[in-house]
Amino acid sequence: MTDCLFCRIVAGEIPAERVYEDANLIAIRDINPQAPVHILLLSRKHLASIAEIDLADPVLMHTLAVAAAKIAVIEGIAGRGYRLLTNTGSEGGQAVAHLHFHLLGGRQMGWPPG
Ligand code: 5GP
Ligand code: ZN
Repeated sequence: MTDCLFCRIVAGEIPAERVYEDANLIAIRDINPQAPVHILLLSRKHLASIAEIDLADPVLMHTLAVAAAKIAVIEGIAGRGYRLLTNTGSEGGQAVAHLHFHLLGGRQMGWPPG
């Protein structure tokens, strides 16, 4: 059994509210939402972060972007706008070392981020 939290969520060993899934990813609601809409898009395949994406896997990033746009429509934030981001490493603010994107919306975002 893996000790990666998001691998265990992908495998269904730990429950999460799934809002979308396809062959490459699942999307769940964040357990500690930072906006009215806060969805996590988790790669089904374990990669520690976006830094591990390589040219051998050309489909994953494209799939993530397309899925995020679809989920934004489903969640009713596509027209107002939203933020899609991935934290990378310690100073990037990454807490879970399994590639995931945050889709945040439903309120005005600030810049620069904290
Ligand atoms: P990171 O800081 O790695 O970019 O983001 C990790 C995110 O995962 C955080 O927003 C945190 O709230 C969320 N998270 C941590 N544990 C769980 C969990 O067990 N279930 C869900 N749905 N989200 C989680
Ligand atoms: Zn993992």
